[in-house]
Amino acid sequence: MVRLFVQSALSADAAVLPTLDQSRYLTQVMRLKLGDSLLVFNGRDGEWRCVITEILKKGVVLRTEEQVRPQAIGPDVQLLISVVKKSALEFAVEKATELGVRRVGLVVTHRTQVQHVRMDRLDAIAVEAAEQTGRLDVPMIDEPAKLGDLLDGWEAGRRLMFCDETGGAPAWEALMGAGAGPWTILIGPEGGFSPEERERLRALPFTTAVSLGPRILRADTAAVAALTLWQAAVGDWER
Ligand code: SAM
Repeated sequence: MVRLFVQSALSADAAVLPTLDQSRYLTQVMRLKLGDSLLVFNGRDGEWRCVITEILKKGVVLRTEEQVRPQAIGPDVQLLISVVKKSALEFAVEKATELGVRRVGLVVTHRTQVQHVRMDRLDAIAVEAAEQTGRLDVPMIDEPAKLGDLLDGWEAGRRLMFCDETGGAPAWEALMGAGAGPWTILIGPEGGFSPEERERLRALPFTTAVSLGPRILRADTAAVAALTLWQAAVGDWER
């Protein structure tokens, strides 16, 4: 069944107004008609089955029928990925969304090359991946921020899985040893981390430096590999 991420509040017997683009997607791409049903979620009120009650020029009107899943949120894992080239960054955002990341931060490191990021494009990719993957929330994508600033303002109690291409602890054992709780996974740029960055990161008490194996992975591959390990070791894959 079609799933749509909407802004409207969702409750019993409520009208839901998708955007014009979403309305066109429903009627022209998915060929839905009056009376057809679909699922909607807004990241706050769970997932609701709705029916199309009106098809107007300015968009369709849906009406909620039943809440089919209560709101739930996955484990607290964030991805901090260096601003890499467009295709890799978009791939990383889509795959991280499917892999249950709660938030994606874009980080500027000493060797980050790319400057401009289309935030609206990344948000749209996250929404589309969340709709497809069946999750009940959409990860927030934070604007690019300097690594040093992020470390200066680090949230108490959050661990950092520092994916270090020059080597580190075997990731699985390191995660199993450190255990569950709020984590952030850090992935560097095409040129890797600078020695100064590596030194600062490794000196931090909340950092676990890990290796993702003997080969150098592209940043987007590393993001997928790290999130896969994290979910399997301390995330929501064991349930
Ligand atoms: N300096 C290398 C290069 O220029 O290709 C490494 C950069 S790598 C493409 C980008 C990021 O992916 C690294 O900074 C690291 O966070 C992660 N990464 C890639 N391979 C890794 C590995 N084998 N172990 C740990 N992290 C890795």
